[in-house]
Amino acid sequence: MLPPSSARRPEFIPISTLVRASACPVRVYLERHDPIQEPYEYTVAKQVGYHLGGNLDVDTIWREITLVRPDISVTMQGYLRGCISACAGLPWRPPRTIDLTITNRRYAVSGRIDWFFDTEPKIGILRATRAPDHGVWRQDRLRAAGYLLAAEELDGETVSEVQIAYLPSGIVRRVIPNASDRRTLLSALKSVEAIYRGETPRSPPNAPCDRCGKKDLCNKEPPTLFERFFKR
Ligand code: SF4
Repeated sequence: MLPPSSARRPEFIPISTLVRASACPVRVYLERHDPIQEPYEYTVAKQVGYHLGGNLDVDTIWREITLVRPDISVTMQGYLRGCISACAGLPWRPPRTIDLTITNRRYAVSGRIDWFFDTEPKIGILRATRAPDHGVWRQDRLRAAGYLLAAEELDGETVSEVQIAYLPSGIVRRVIPNASDRRTLLSALKSVEAIYRGETPRSPPNAPCDRCGKKDLCNKEPPTLFERFFKR
């Protein structure tokens, strides 16, 4: 059985943690002390994002990427070229500001959005994955719900839509989260808060165990009576 959590609740829970908890709170629990390591794809897509609407020069952007992530493999240049060829020549809206941290004090959640625009969808998120055939991925609906919750306390701004840019596909989609998305987000928030209170999460029946990096550490079975009484 997993031991109780000893991690202290951060002042603000990141939206990304809520999205991860919606897939499996046990994984959030197991990774609570792990250093955050952004995927290389995200590093590349993020740097392309700074140049959208301008000159997408491979060499310039790659130089910046190697400055940000000196450990990146040269094989990621193929991914960079794919993003650039998908995004070049498209009409990208200029944002009012970039990399904006937004917080909701009432729920103690926060997130950093890639773009904030003057008109709806005002919130823009960049994704390093390919776009689905229609709409946005389920986790991106939750992400959008989370950012809208975080944006509720933005001074003088009414925000109701989120733009999601899938850079490897060069596709931009808009999303308005529905009641089901908000319920799932709230439930994820409760499960993360429970972890920080010292409770041990249970795995959901549809946990994505096949592609989970913590599979070896994870004990999904509840303890037997023998374990409860004799293995303390
Ligand atoms: S193996 Fe399955 S239950 Fe365990 S942390 Fe990973 S996704 Fe969750």
